[in-house]
Amino acid sequence: MNKSYRDVITKGLIFKKIPFKESSLILEIFSNRFGKISVIAKGIRKEKNKNIGLIEVLNELELVLYKKPESQWYILKSASLIKPHLFNVKFQNNVLMQAGIEIYRQLKIPKEDYILLYDLIIKYIEYLKKVDSNGIAIFWRFLLKVFIVLGINIDIKKCVHCNHEKNNFFAYYPHKHGFICSDCYLPVFDSFIFKISEETSEIISNLNKIGAFLDKITISEKTINQINNIFLTHLSEQFNKKFYLNTLEMY
Ligand SMILES: [Zn+2]
Repeated sequence: MNKSYRDVITKGLIFKKIPFKESSLILEIFSNRFGKISVIAKGIRKEKNKNIGLIEVLNELELVLYKKPESQWYILKSASLIKPHLFNVKFQNNVLMQAGIEIYRQLKIPKEDYILLYDLIIKYIEYLKKVDSNGIAIFWRFLLKVFIVLGINIDIKKCVHCNHEKNNFFAYYPHKHGFICSDCYLPVFDSFIFKISEETSEIISNLNKIGAFLDKITISEKTINQINNIFLTHLSEQFNKKFYLNTLEMY
């Protein structure tokens, strides 16, 4: 690789690619040094360009980029493949990887969290490659870890009302960013909370160690909807904008 003094090198994960002009691509990349960046890959779609095979969604690359100080855009100088993460991945796990990307694309990621969140999504992707069933629970566990890094964690151990450690949650309480237990529930809460099933409560309480149970549990569609809804509501509350998970409709 040629590296002149204005070039920068970073690791990056391709989130999205969009055709641009006749032979170029605009890449949305999450990099461990600069966070989410837009990169123009000039002429990359020309037949003889040897780099085109590298540019696939979820490929992890080592990138040499160039940027004029006043520009928002990075220009791709060269790239080498670290890992093609979608290679040989089961469809459902592919969908879950895309769901992780979908959340990151909607987040505003502070500079101090670039490296942690980069490592987190790579670990999440690597973990999913080994998962046979119930990968959705790994997605939820991943979101909990993302929340911790961003300082917006949901407490899955304690009731937000009595503050005791519980595993019999009755409902999710969005304004308090947590759950209330069955013992604390009063009908007066009804307009602030959404009730969850026993199955949802059990999965939530065990999320941190769920990896060990994946092949022993079944997760109903109702629970999947409830937990996705809880996490999306939490994100929307924290960032004051609507979050969505369109990719999971394919799950
Ligand atoms: Zn309680």
